[in-house]
Amino acid sequence: MKRKKSERLFAKAQTLMPGGVNSPVRAFKAVGGNPLFIAKASGSKIYDADGNKFIDYVASWGPLILGHAHPRIVKAIARYAARGTSYGAPTELEIVMAEKVSKAIPSMETLRMVSSGTEAVMSAIRLARGYTGRNKIVKFEGCYHGHADSLLVKAGSGLLSLGIPECPGIVPELAKFTLNLPYNGAGEVRELFAREGGEIACVIVEPVAGNMGVVPPQPGFLKTLREVTRKSGTLLIFDEVITGFRLSLGGAQELYNIKPDLTCLGKIIGGGLPAGAYGGPRKIMESVAPLGPVYQAGTLSGNPLAMAAGIEMLNLMSKKKVYADLEKKSQKLCDGLRKNAETLGIPARFTRVGSMFSMFFTDKEIVDYASVKTSDTEMFKRYFNAMLEEGIYLAPSQFEAGFVSTAHTDEDIETTVSAAKRALKKAKTCNKMNR
Ligand SMILES: *Cc1c(COP(=O)(O)O)cnc(C)c1O
Repeated sequence: MKRKKSERLFAKAQTLMPGGVNSPVRAFKAVGGNPLFIAKASGSKIYDADGNKFIDYVASWGPLILGHAHPRIVKAIARYAARGTSYGAPTELEIVMAEKVSKAIPSMETLRMVSSGTEAVMSAIRLARGYTGRNKIVKFEGCYHGHADSLLVKAGSGLLSLGIPECPGIVPELAKFTLNLPYNGAGEVRELFAREGGEIACVIVEPVAGNMGVVPPQPGFLKTLREVTRKSGTLLIFDEVITGFRLSLGGAQELYNIKPDLTCLGKIIGGGLPAGAYGGPRKIMESVAPLGPVYQAGTLSGNPLAMAAGIEMLNLMSKKKVYADLEKKSQKLCDGLRKNAETLGIPARFTRVGSMFSMFFTDKEIVDYASVKTSDTEMFKRYFNAMLEEGIYLAPSQFEAGFVSTAHTDEDIETTVSAAKRALKKAKTCNKMNR
C-alpha cells in the first residue's frame, strides 16, 4: 500500500496542529502508524491521498448511515448553498427539521438545534441542573458524551483509547459533582439513589454504549434508570448522538420502549454537516432562553446547509426498508466475522445492536468498562493494520464502534469477511512470534 503522500501530509500537519489532527482519535495513536489523509469518498468507499481505496466502516464516526456523498444530500446542500450559507435569523428549514425530529422521537416535544453532539449534551446538562436546582449528575464509566468539562470524568472514546483516565484542566470542584457508575450496574444505581437521589439533577446514559466499543444495555437496565429517576425528581437524559436515527427512526428509546425526559442528538441529524439537537417536554424546555433563564445560544445553530442536509437524511431514513436492510447487512457481516474467529480459534466477543457493532479480543462477557478493558489491544492493533492493508478501513481503536451503512453492498460484506479472515490469521501468527 502506498502511503507516501499521507506521510508527507501528516509530517506537515504535525507542525501546524496538535498531533496533526483536529480530533484526537483520528491520529491512529492506539493502533500505531500514521493516519491516512482522505481525499474523497463515495458510497461505502473512501480514497486516501495516495489513491488507495477502502471499504469504510467508520462513516465519519457515525453520521453517514447512507454512505458517503449520497446524491440527494449533496444536491440539497448545493441547492441551499446558492441561497446563502447563514443568516443568523430564523428560517422555515428549522421548522421542517424540528417537526420531523419531534414526529420521529415524540419525547422531543420541543427542541433546540445546536452545532455538535458536545454542545447538545452540554446544554442538556445545564438545563437539567437549572430546571431541578440540583448540582450532581450521574454518568456511566466508558460512556462518552462529548468534551464538556462535567462529562470528561472516566469517559470513553478517545480518552479510553489514549488511556487518559483524568483530564487535566477540569476544575476538581466541578468534577466532584459528576458521579460515575458502572454501565449496566442497575444495583449500583439503586443504591446511589436510595442514598442521595434527591440531590441528583440528571442521569445521562448512552442507551446503547458506543464509545467503549458497542456495549448493549442488559435487560432491565434502562428501565431501572427510568424508575429511580422518576421517583426522585431526577431527569433522565438519553444521549442518542449515535443511536438516534440509527437503531430506528425513533432511536434507542423507540427500540427499548423507554421515554427519557431529555434527548441529545448529533451525528446523523446533520447528514454529514455539523448539527446537533436537544429536546424534551415543553414544560422543561421552557426553562431555556429566551423563554426561561437557562442560557444557550449559537451563531451557526440551525444553519441552513446543515438543516437541508439533515432534512434530506431524515427523509431518506423514513423509507420503510432502510432499517431492515441495515439489520440484514450488519448481521451478515457479524456472522461472518464471528465464524472467522471461531474457525481460527481466536478468543473474541461480538456485540451488535442494529448497524453498530464491535469485535473485542477477549473471552470475557462484554457488559461494562471493566470487561471491555480485558481486550487484547495488541492483537487489535495487528488486526487493524492487517485490515488496512486489505483495503478495509476500521475505527483505529479497539474501543470504538463499527458502522454499517445502506451503501455497503453484499459484495462489500463478503470482501470484508474474507479479508478479515486473512487479517486475523496474520494477527494471530505475529502474536505467537512475539511470545
Ligand atoms: C460523538 C458523540 C458525542 C459528541 O458529539 P460531537 O459532535 O463529536 O461533539 C456525544 N455523545 C455521544 C454518545 C457521541 O457518540
